[in-house]
Amino acid sequence: MTAVGERTELLGMPRERLEGWFAARGEKPFRARQVLKWIHARGVTDFSQMTDLSKALRERLATEAVLRLPEVVGDRISADGTRKWALRVDAHNVVETVFIPEARRGTLCVSSQVGCALDCTFCATARQGFNRNLTAAEIIGQVWLARRILEQAGMGTAALTNVVLMGMGEPLLNYRNVVDALKLMMDDDAYGFGKRRVTLSTAGVVPAMDRLREELDVSLAVSLHAPDDALRDRLVPLNRKYPIAELMAACRRFLDGKHRKHSITFEYVMLDGINDSVDHARRLARLLAGLPSKVNLIPFNPFRGTRYRRSSDAATARFAAVLQDKGITTITRRTRGDDIEAACGQLAGRIRDRARRARHFARVEEMFRAQSA
Ligand code: SF4
Repeated sequence: MTAVGERTELLGMPRERLEGWFAARGEKPFRARQVLKWIHARGVTDFSQMTDLSKALRERLATEAVLRLPEVVGDRISADGTRKWALRVDAHNVVETVFIPEARRGTLCVSSQVGCALDCTFCATARQGFNRNLTAAEIIGQVWLARRILEQAGMGTAALTNVVLMGMGEPLLNYRNVVDALKLMMDDDAYGFGKRRVTLSTAGVVPAMDRLREELDVSLAVSLHAPDDALRDRLVPLNRKYPIAELMAACRRFLDGKHRKHSITFEYVMLDGINDSVDHARRLARLLAGLPSKVNLIPFNPFRGTRYRRSSDAATARFAAVLQDKGITTITRRTRGDDIEAACGQLAGRIRDRARRARHFARVEEMFRAQSA
């Protein structure tokens, strides 16, 4: 439970915790349902407007609770409709949320940490290092804000159909807060996303995959990016801790866990000359043989200073054909939002650099003032 000063942050509290919070104050559990609806389904953050609560309870909430949303400090819309927000979560930290509209769905890509500790070598976020975990309120706050902004843009609440935890950070290294936020996403009194519409994407934190399998019924995506340990060790250093054989075993357990799954999605970023040959595709097909799976081939989004290049369309098509020939459903993602720095971590990195520069210059000015005093 997050306390802000004397007051408790309610934004990230899933139903059972909210019920507990009300029970501790002598209130009935159904208060949690009412408040969940006001905050998440109706988008109301002013307790005084929650008109089906008694006046006394509204006043009590105003003195004992708080609802704090991240602040939008950057908002860019790509020519292809992709929209990216930079959200300030505290004085020094900015994260990103991206909305990707498609013909039949609209997907929100949500961040779970400020930066990331996993250091995947093709990732812009990794360059920033790791600052801190987001709270459950800061994670669900991204969904709250996106829904309201899209609504205000005349797109209606139905524009947002899917959520993927695939933004900045490794969600399974922020397990408790991520699970609380996921519960809210799937709660019918909050956002009501179905289990197939909420996907957690992991680089492969095996023990947490096992924990998640028993706790929550969500879809799983695994950032694989290589068919063998030698290459994956280079691209996703976490592989040295949980190598591919262990990761695949965890995937099988996930499929057969408490909430049986039809398939797992494997993400594979296409890097020119690195992991995109026909031989890589054949080895990937062998690795996934017998495992109900889908593969997403993701075009690499280049960022300043990277040594990688995006695979050609021809190489990607050849790679996809090998997988499809082996009966593996393979989707080639289109590049999205190239013009708005859609590679995860780029925009927040730039805003953070700007903030860091501003702090640096403020310090320099201070030194000048001290010298001339
Ligand atoms: S790809 Fe994901 S897990 Fe890897 S460094 Fe980037 S944010 Fe972290």
